[in-house]
Amino acid sequence: MTSLATGLACIDCGAPLPLDYVLECPACQGLLELRYDGETIARGGPSVFTGDGLWRYAAVLPIADPAHRVSLGEGQTPLLECPRLGRRLGVRRLVVKFEGANPTGTVKDRTSATAVGGALQFGFPAVSVVSSGNAGSSIAAYSARAGLRSLVFCYEHSSAPKMLHMAATASDLVIYKGVYDDLITLWDRLATEHLFFDGGASRNPYKHEGKKTIAYEIAEQLGWEAPDVVVAPAAVGETFIATHRGFAEMERWGLIPRRPLMAAAQAARANTIVTAWRDKAPLVPLKIGYTVAEGLAAGNPGRKGDWVLRILRETDGVAGEAEDEEILEAQRLLAREEGIWAGPTGSASLAVLVRLLADKLVDPEATICVIVSETGLKTEAPPPAVTPMSFDAESLRRLVLQKLGTPARPSAG
Ligand SMILES: [Zn+2]
Repeated sequence: MTSLATGLACIDCGAPLPLDYVLECPACQGLLELRYDGETIARGGPSVFTGDGLWRYAAVLPIADPAHRVSLGEGQTPLLECPRLGRRLGVRRLVVKFEGANPTGTVKDRTSATAVGGALQFGFPAVSVVSSGNAGSSIAAYSARAGLRSLVFCYEHSSAPKMLHMAATASDLVIYKGVYDDLITLWDRLATEHLFFDGGASRNPYKHEGKKTIAYEIAEQLGWEAPDVVVAPAAVGETFIATHRGFAEMERWGLIPRRPLMAAAQAARANTIVTAWRDKAPLVPLKIGYTVAEGLAAGNPGRKGDWVLRILRETDGVAGEAEDEEILEAQRLLAREEGIWAGPTGSASLAVLVRLLADKLVDPEATICVIVSETGLKTEAPPPAVTPMSFDAESLRRLVLQKLGTPARPSAG
């Protein structure tokens, strides 16, 4: 099925715009979102979705020409039932949407696919992004895949594996010193001059839209139903807003019976949205320092942060935060209880769920879906402190028996 996008609309004043490359409303500078031919989708139901991966949902994405559908095999990530972890947390049914299974190990591959697709659609030769690591390597990989240039600005403290990945895939990699929010402000102005296609998270509706497919996949994986609760990470707010948008569209078009309760997850050291939500107050930007969840280190979510707050207030959603130690504990739990190896940024949503359960903001009898946004394979940390050992046949046998005990199964041979 081809794209059923019909235009853009301002989220603030509602002004309609054609499907051009525009980053904000010319009338009020509001952010823009895509509009679709909902009637055709409602009539066709799930049959409008054909093929595999992210582009299965091409009907609800804004890339018109199938030749512009850039792909490295993103999407169709597993929705993992987590019974052991669920029991441990006292949750009746816990599922994890594991976005670390994407080609560059992050949920950002979804937005890179539609961002680079958008760059092709509008004839841009280069895409640029300011990144703490994951977005940079993802945009660079997808740009390379499409034969476009990429100009990636990467945080000097990004992990070595992320840096290595960026250096390998980006046509131009610039390491920046200083605070992410400060560089974003300068860079955003150049994006407005159209010196490159905007691969950033703050405005571009074409890029943003790719992440909506998480919601479509979760619903389809549950037999066209939504979970009761979805916990999504919120730095600038792209994943949270897009996931909500996906579920809201599906409800409107009759693809699912009802939307989930949305929970926004932040790191306690970058908790502007949670604070504003809790205090029922406007968003106040925060100068932030280090958090282990480097992908959540946004102290000024800007207008997208306001958009997240609006969704939380209009839909009775909830928000929560977790300290670095809680995030690292959630990372260990995912790995040990379910074999899911996520980075701290990806584990933060689980850590926040633990808090939301303790604060009774989420019902443990609900079906809860946690979006784990990245793999742990790109995390940099010292290896565990263990002393290497050497063995002969007898000492090896002794160690195995000591670790595993006498076998409960019938003996070999
Ligand atoms: Zn407007």
